[in-house]
Amino acid sequence: MDWKARTRAVHEGSRRSQYGEMAEAIFLTQGFVYDTAEAAEARFLEAGPDEFIYARYGNPTTRMFEERIAALEGTEDAFATASGMAAVSGVLMSMLRAGDHVVSSRALFGSCLYVLEEVLPRFGVRVSFVDGADLDQWRAAVGPGTKAVFFESMSNPTLELVDIRAVAEIAHAAGALVICDNVFATPVFSRAVGQGADAVVYSTTKHIDGQGRALGGVVCGSRAFIRKVLEPYMKHTGGSMSPFTAWLHLNGLATLDLRCRAMAETALAVARALEGHPKVTRVLHPGLPSHPQHALAMAQMGSGGTLVAFEVKGGKEAAFRFLNALRIAKISNNLGDARTIATHPATTTHQRLPQEQKEALGITPGLIRLSLGLEDSGDLIADLHAALDRA
Ligand SMILES: *Cc1c(COP(=O)(O)O)cnc(C)c1O
Repeated sequence: MDWKARTRAVHEGSRRSQYGEMAEAIFLTQGFVYDTAEAAEARFLEAGPDEFIYARYGNPTTRMFEERIAALEGTEDAFATASGMAAVSGVLMSMLRAGDHVVSSRALFGSCLYVLEEVLPRFGVRVSFVDGADLDQWRAAVGPGTKAVFFESMSNPTLELVDIRAVAEIAHAAGALVICDNVFATPVFSRAVGQGADAVVYSTTKHIDGQGRALGGVVCGSRAFIRKVLEPYMKHTGGSMSPFTAWLHLNGLATLDLRCRAMAETALAVARALEGHPKVTRVLHPGLPSHPQHALAMAQMGSGGTLVAFEVKGGKEAAFRFLNALRIAKISNNLGDARTIATHPATTTHQRLPQEQKEALGITPGLIRLSLGLEDSGDLIADLHAALDRA
């Protein structure tokens, strides 16, 4: 159908039972009843598109979510997982085998780094890490044995972009699959599939849930990849999404576009308000013309996204005084929530990184990451300015 994203986000994939319920039903069931033994046999032989066997394999509510998010991302299919990390580990483990080579950007979410650095090598997969923004490093690292490249399209917490189109060209020339962890870009600003990504991964815990309630994840890709490569691995290893989570996420998708655009507008307003503040030494937001990758962000996403990182003058002590003085923004570590969240990466999400890696990634003692929520932007800026006065 020729629907725009906002229409799809409300209606795509809807399945109604014989009751014709308006809102999506939660099929909170692990199993399904067959009319006859023959019907059970036939379904185990080959389940049709609207036939289910066991919730670990698939469930009507989860299937609605998969179809809706696939339509938004522009892929043929999707598989919903129990968390973002079930999606990341599943997409890698399902397609790789001993002897394969993977190239990954170095600036990764901590658990992604664990999977690539600790888990995959245990199974004989070679992983090379590159500076994701440096195309020469991608060119040098990708070779004939490279099966996949992996990156976060916008890195955490310094909001550095990977040029999806350019990296996909390098990867495809070597026959490698492009796996894009697209959490910070959000499905609203993502054009990753058109730019060359073969599989797009989301932690749905973030913007898609949007209210900090449920852990979830999803992998979007071609039908052949999702159903023939990923699904067998996921359904037999136990990382499927709960129908209840899928139901929450279906509701999240209906408002995703409005929420992400409002959050991005606030992020830009906050970034502008922080830039040039005497207590702030640098502001990182791809929507600011001062961001070194501003042009790439506009071409790749058409937005700077919903996060802002900035450095408070005076190091950790000043950063903590700032955090403790906030009244609206909450000190936490999620993102994409309706509530604005302030994080001190050096002592929380990135605490375990060795000092030299923190420095290499720009995670300084004064760095704060803000995930902008849905509050009034004027109130938020007043809160941030008042807290900076106390820093
Ligand atoms: C949060 C996050 C994950 C992991 O998702 P969970 O839902 O917490 O398992 C992976 N990648 C990125 C970029 C994230 O922000």
